[in-house]
Amino acid sequence: MKQLYLIKRLPLRKDYYAICLFGFVLSVRPLSETELNHELIHAAQQKELLYIPFFIWYGIEWIILYFKYRNWEKAYFNIRFEREAYHHESDLNYLKLRKHYKYS
Ligand SMILES: [Zn+2]
Repeated sequence: MKQLYLIKRLPLRKDYYAICLFGFVLSVRPLSETELNHELIHAAQQKELLYIPFFIWYGIEWIILYFKYRNWEKAYFNIRFEREAYHHESDLNYLKLRKHYKYS
């Protein structure tokens, strides 16, 4: 199944170039294997949380972390889903071995 779709622009900050929504990766440019793996880790997280709860959890955690750090970027990098994706994005076999609900 095709999972990467190139689009002209994302309705996000300019430094965000890709997003995973409901298992599909939207990007403004071709992605490296590592970048695609990062997005596919989010696809796995979204699927196991049945999509909508993932986005609710993601948003609430980002807001809570913002109040903790008073910095959107620091909060973003500390969201459990981002920590898992950044920590394992270089391991192209990670998704084959990944345990469900283990966001670290
Ligand atoms: Zn991410």
